[in-house]
Amino acid sequence: MSDLLVMKFGGTSLGTAARIRVAAQISAEQHAKRGVVTVVSAMAQVTDLLLDSLRKAEAGDQADLDRNLKELYARHFEVCRELLPAARQEAVLAGVHALIGEFSRIAKGMMMLGERPPRSIDEAVAIGERLSAYLLAEYLESQGILAAAVNAADVIATDAVFGNATPLMEQTRERASKTLHRLLDEGILPVVTGFNGSTLDGRPTTLGRGGSDFSASIIAAALNASELWIWTDVDGIMTGDPRLISDARVLDMVTYNEAAELAYNGAKVLHPRTLAPLVERAIPVWSKNSFALDKPGTKIVPSAAMARAARGPHAVTSMADVALVSIEPANSVLSGTKVMARALEALDRANVEILAITSSSYRQTFCFLVRQSELGSVMEHLEESLSLELAHGYLKPFDVDKDVGLIAVVGEGMKGTPGLAGRIFTAISKRDVNIIAIAQGSSELTIAIVVRRAGLESAVKAIHLECGLGG
Ligand code: ADP
Ligand code: ASP
Ligand code: MG
Repeated sequence: MSDLLVMKFGGTSLGTAARIRVAAQISAEQHAKRGVVTVVSAMAQVTDLLLDSLRKAEAGDQADLDRNLKELYARHFEVCRELLPAARQEAVLAGVHALIGEFSRIAKGMMMLGERPPRSIDEAVAIGERLSAYLLAEYLESQGILAAAVNAADVIATDAVFGNATPLMEQTRERASKTLHRLLDEGILPVVTGFNGSTLDGRPTTLGRGGSDFSASIIAAALNASELWIWTDVDGIMTGDPRLISDARVLDMVTYNEAAELAYNGAKVLHPRTLAPLVERAIPVWSKNSFALDKPGTKIVPSAAMARAARGPHAVTSMADVALVSIEPANSVLSGTKVMARALEALDRANVEILAITSSSYRQTFCFLVRQSELGSVMEHLEESLSLELAHGYLKPFDVDKDVGLIAVVGEGMKGTPGLAGRIFTAISKRDVNIIAIAQGSSELTIAIVVRRAGLESAVKAIHLECGLGG
C-alpha cells in the first residue's frame, strides 16, 4: 500500500483514558487520509507490574501476587469505564477480565513450579500490550472507526531468544501481508501490540524492554510504509536527557546513525534497535510528543546530507548501570591478540553487547564495558573460555569495576573538528571527574568516555555546556 503510515504510542501516551482518547484521535485523523497501522505499548508502568507479579509468583508470594493482580484489574477496569460508552462496557470489561485471567493462570503456574521459564515470561508480559491494543481498538470502534486489535505474535516472526528476540524479516513480511494487508484493504485500522512476536513454530517472544519502538519499525519495514511516527512524552530527541539537563534542547533533525548511537548509549527515547529495519528502504521517522501536538518533533533521516548537520557534537547521553571488565596476561607467554580473540568469542556466545572497548598494546591488556544486567553471563562465558589460562596463571584474575558510568558525545558534525576531544576532556577534568577509558570509532560519530560513577552526571552537564548544546 502506498503512503502507509505506521504510528507507535508509548506507555505514557496511553496511560489514562484521556491519553487513549488522544491516541485514538491522532490515529483516526490520519486514518481518514491514508492507510494507518497503530502500534501500542502497554499502559504506563503495566509491564513493570506484570514482571514484578511473575517474580512474586516464582517466590511463592501469594499475597503480593494477589495485590498486584488487583491493581492490574483496577487500572484497566477504571480506564474501561472512563473510556467507553455504557452500552459497550460490559462486553469490554469481560474481555479485559479474560486477558488478565490468562496472565493470572501463567503466574499461578509459575508459583506451582517455583520457577519462571523465559518463554512463559514472554507470553505473560505481552498481555500488557494486548490489553492496551484491545482498549484502543474498542474505543475507536465506539467512535465509528473500523479498527481491530492484532496480536503481534501473528505478525512478527522472531528467533527463539526469549526476552530479547530478533525479527526474521522475510517471514515477518509474509505474516504481515496476511494479517495486516487484509485489514488495511478492508479499510480497517489495525491496532497492533508492540513488544512481542513469536517464533516460526508459534512460541511467544518479546523484543527486549522498550521494544515497542522496534516493533513499529519492524512493521513499517515489513509493510514498506512511507513514514513511521513515534509518539512519546517529550518534544522529540533532545541534546541530552531532559531529566538530567534542564536546558536540553529538541533537535529538529538527526540522522539514523546519530539516533542509533544515542539510543545504544542510553537515550531512552528510542529503543536501540529501532533504526536497523528501516535502513534498507530509508523510511523516515518522526519522534513526536503526544502531549504537545503543535510541536514539530524530531525528524530522523537516513543520511547526513539530508540532516544539514551543523559542525560539532549534537547530543550527549549517559548510562549508569554498566561494568568495566579488564583482562591482563600475567606474563608475555600468552599472545594478547589471542586472548582478546577468545574473549570476544565468549562475549559473542553470551549474546551480549560491548558498549566500548579499549586496549593497550605494550602490556597486552584490554578492557571492555558491558551492561551490569549482562555481567553474570559475561563472566560465566569468559571464565569458561579462558579457564585453563586462569588456572595455570597465564592470566591475572579478571578485574570487574561496577563503579563506572558511560558518556557518549554524538554528532555527524564532529568529524574532523580539531581540538574537540581536548575541550571535552578539559571540561570533565575541571569538575574533578576521573576519566577511566576513552573509545572513539573511526567514523568519528561518537566519543565514548568511561568515568567514575559518582562524577557521571556532573561530567555530562559539563560536556553539554562546553559544547554549547543548551537552549
Ligand atoms: P515511551 O513510553 O513513549 O516509549 P520512554 O520513557 O521510553 O517513552 O522514552 C521517553 C523518555 O526518554 C523521555 O521522557 C525522556 O525522559 C527520556 N530521554 C532520555 N534521553 C533523552 C533524549 N536525548 N531526548 C529525549 N528524551 C530522552
Ligand atoms: N511495554 C514494554 C516495556 O515497558 C515495551 C515498551 O514500552 O516499549 O518495556
Ligand atoms: Mg520507550
